[in-house]
Amino acid sequence: VVRTRFAPSPTGYLHLGGARTALFSWAFARHHKGVFVLRIEDTDLERSTPEAVQAILDGMAWLDMQPDEGPFYQMQRMDRYREVLAGMLAKGTAYYCYSSPQEVEAMREKARSQGLKPRYDGTWRPAPGKTLPPIPEGRKPVVRFKNPQDGATGWDDLIKGPISIDNTELDDLIIARPDGTPTYNFCVVVDDWDMNITHVLRGDDHVNNTPRQINILRALGATLPQYGHLPMILGPDGEKLSKRHGAVSVMDYDKEGYLPEAMINYLARLGWSHGNDEIFSREQLVEWFDTRNLTKSAAQWDPKKLNWVNAHYIKQSANSVLSALVAPRIEKLGGNPAAIQLDDVMGLLKDRAETLNQLAEGAMLFCGAYARASDELAAEHLTPETKAVLADFAAHAQALPEWTTEALSALIKDTLARHNLKMAKLGIPLRLAVTGQKQTPAIDAVLTILGRELVLERLAAL
Ligand code: GLU
Repeated sequence: VVRTRFAPSPTGYLHLGGARTALFSWAFARHHKGVFVLRIEDTDLERSTPEAVQAILDGMAWLDMQPDEGPFYQMQRMDRYREVLAGMLAKGTAYYCYSSPQEVEAMREKARSQGLKPRYDGTWRPAPGKTLPPIPEGRKPVVRFKNPQDGATGWDDLIKGPISIDNTELDDLIIARPDGTPTYNFCVVVDDWDMNITHVLRGDDHVNNTPRQINILRALGATLPQYGHLPMILGPDGEKLSKRHGAVSVMDYDKEGYLPEAMINYLARLGWSHGNDEIFSREQLVEWFDTRNLTKSAAQWDPKKLNWVNAHYIKQSANSVLSALVAPRIEKLGGNPAAIQLDDVMGLLKDRAETLNQLAEGAMLFCGAYARASDELAAEHLTPETKAVLADFAAHAQALPEWTTEALSALIKDTLARHNLKMAKLGIPLRLAVTGQKQTPAIDAVLTILGRELVLERLAAL
């Protein structure tokens, strides 16, 4: 059975790259009817925070990528790491190293001066017939992994293809610090082993860790997972995606009014494709997901395309669904969504909105405070002549048997004909009179939603 994991370090928010990694691991597990594990890598005590853990959980809940197992927390697994460490020391696949950081730095410097790769020189690495130096008094040792010294360590990366590193390139990695705490790569290895992870999908900033992790897994006698390293996400300018490019926290996109379905759809297309399909559902993603369709090259973040995808999902959402999502956003803007037929407003606005926030802003026309047209606009468009036309319009509007978009549209046409006017000559003054704004969605629909009472009141106040 396929078992994947998402293993974020809780040091900030859930960023877009992390969410995409999670999405691919989730989709892969779902596709194979496998298990998706969430593991919080919180051993960096200085940088990990409970808020960041919560941000990860919130982001995953928002995108509806619920783990089947976990969250597991590495800080709660310390005893297990110590146990595995003790086993390795007993077996001789790891050893105590008493070299001080200064001594190790000197070794590295020496290698550098000889034109070699800076490395630990193996002073404390046991070997048959070798006598180890006397243990310096009072010094706490680190534990190093006894990395193979010859041959190469390779794997067939699910995305990048075969990768191989000479073992001479790999130092004897420190797997526990002088205080006995296990180091990052070691915890990852023990977890992937204990959690029976079969497929590791992660960012390609981890490629260098993989041969080290493979060697430790082998020393433990573990079955190796398959690895796939995802190329990073670049900003529109080709640089690594960062705060400079705008919001990088997934939950900021919730705040800005993106729909989780749109986010999932868009994130999936960053580095994965299914033919030319741009719009697909979560179910289709799961059905189609295959690591063979992951791209080797870096994906580029494209806010315009995200907006296009979001606009698509907004357009195809039911009015009532949008109302429920937009109402709290209207309240935040100071409007009262309960005062209007919000579903109708959504129907009017949704074809042209890219975000829920835009819908909320658009709805403020109907349920926010009404500000009269500026003096400047009034002077230009609300002249005595246009006011006379508006008064005539108001008189007929009052007498309309039904207050519907069709009836109002017909009345507008009649008014234009009666006064021999072009649409703009009525449209702009009418908009200014009833909304205070020069540009609004279709005026007949706007009048319908505002309602007869309000429209006549505002026309009368001119
Ligand atoms: N905790 C690592 C990170 O957030 C991921 C480790 C892994 O996926 O192996 O970058």
